[in-house]
Amino acid sequence: MQLPLPKHLDEQKVILRISPEKDVDGFHPQSVGALSIGLKGFVSCTPAGVIELLKRYNIEIAGKNCVVVGRSNIVGKPVSLLLLREHGTVTICHSRTQNLKEVVQTADIVVAAVGIPNFIKGDMIKEGAAIIDVGINRLENGKLCGDVDFKACEKKASYITPVPGGVGPMTIAMLMHNCVLAAEK
Ligand code: NAD
Repeated sequence: MQLPLPKHLDEQKVILRISPEKDVDGFHPQSVGALSIGLKGFVSCTPAGVIELLKRYNIEIAGKNCVVVGRSNIVGKPVSLLLLREHGTVTICHSRTQNLKEVVQTADIVVAAVGIPNFIKGDMIKEGAAIIDVGINRLENGKLCGDVDFKACEKKASYITPVPGGVGPMTIAMLMHNCVLAAEK
């Protein structure tokens, strides 16, 4: 299901009509609840892709300071729960966070899901941090850009995902993964 839905449709009502058995987007409250208490269930695709990227590149999560910027239901909250499940020490920042720069500076892993171009600046990044940029923002010149100032941050980061080409393709891959799981049920 492509979110956001047209305004005249109630998103939560539509999501409740999806069978949790076939909930490949992982948006049904049953899937979200399962994730939050560590039960099996579909995990939403972008957050699952973030964790898969970290694992494939052998980036240690356990015990690390993980700072997630953004608390949306589709990215910020589920990716925070997944990082916690992997034993990260997780901090969630959002639009009301007061000392955001200082919090991000403590991060071994930064996940940016804000929706503001180049929001994460070079001086917010600790030397050697891994940066996962979830943002997809369309600039006035038509180009896509992430939430992270790539040029400034790549100098300090040990790993950094590009936009386009980083988290986006992982989201598609995890959706395919969930579709196969659903078909096998
Ligand atoms: P959203 O608008 O629902 O949430 C944005 C979050 O950012 C909110 O929780 C808000 O509190 C926080 N925020 C806003 N302004 C802030 C500020 N000044 N300081 C700190 N936090 C602030 O967005 P979303 O759906 O979570 O998407 C975030 C970004 O990720 C968007 O660019 C979106 O296009 C992109 N996205 C990419 C994929 C992918 O596959 N790569 C998937 C989903 C979303």
